[in-house]
Amino acid sequence: MESDHYNDPAMFGGCSVPIRVNRKSKPSPTVVNINGIPIGSSSVVIIAGPCSVESHEQLLETAREVKKAGGVLLRGGAFKPRSSPYNFQGLGKEGIKMLTEMRKATGLPFVTEVMDTRMVEFVAENSDMLQIGSRNMHNYPLLKEVGKLRKPVLLKRGMMATIEEFLLSAEYILNEGNEQVVLCERGIRTFEPTTRNTLDLSAVPMLKHLTHLPVIVDPSHGTGHRWMVPVMAKAAVAAGADGLILEVHYKPEEALCDGFQSLNPDEFSRLMAELKKIAQAVGRDIY
Ligand code: PEP
Ligand code: MN
Repeated sequence: MESDHYNDPAMFGGCSVPIRVNRKSKPSPTVVNINGIPIGSSSVVIIAGPCSVESHEQLLETAREVKKAGGVLLRGGAFKPRSSPYNFQGLGKEGIKMLTEMRKATGLPFVTEVMDTRMVEFVAENSDMLQIGSRNMHNYPLLKEVGKLRKPVLLKRGMMATIEEFLLSAEYILNEGNEQVVLCERGIRTFEPTTRNTLDLSAVPMLKHLTHLPVIVDPSHGTGHRWMVPVMAKAAVAAGADGLILEVHYKPEEALCDGFQSLNPDEFSRLMAELKKIAQAVGRDIY
């Protein structure tokens, strides 16, 4: 229904912003609370951890390094959306169990992906934040299902989604009553082959302009190169991101998934120190 949208075709290429995510319907920024950690405040939140949960040792050692360097939220996939069915698919429920044990040992809350409507209840009951991955941004039954919860959701931009489509997917979740949504720019597919994706940092100010929802950036999937992650992470904070989600592994060379874009603990720790200065330069701090 056209009246559910505010149109500003002259300025935004015809992009219409649906009503519930629209900043005009809620001028104050939404702050999403993940077990006491606010995303969308003046402080930038750093989420870090392995691409996938692989073992007790890998998860715990990585989580300890993340915490030591100042990360406040852990990431780790148990249900993995892999392009090839022959690649490591994640540890599933066992991986979720390891994440809850990691939280008990370190005190770090965690975000983990849910891919299937049949698993939403289980993952919601056993995690602090649900991730909807890039490949599922268009999975409307899944969006509706997480919309029925009162649990924070990290919604990643579809790799071929426009900003309007991204906002419409978030609208699905809000429309079911769940307003605890964080948007994540993770790079889009372009004609450029040197990077895994083209990290669209211009999406950060545009999204912040159009919606009241917090916006974070994933420079790991956004570049696909470990050496590029720190510079793009700093650029994302300079561009106004409310947080970062970074792949960190205690031994990236042994990772079962995405080791080539994962920082080792030293690199992550160095980046954390640099991010403090960038945040300060743009009038913010690191949570
Ligand atoms: C991830 O963050 O684990 C992931 C699979 O990323 P994306 O959905 O952005 O590809
Ligand atoms: Mn990954």
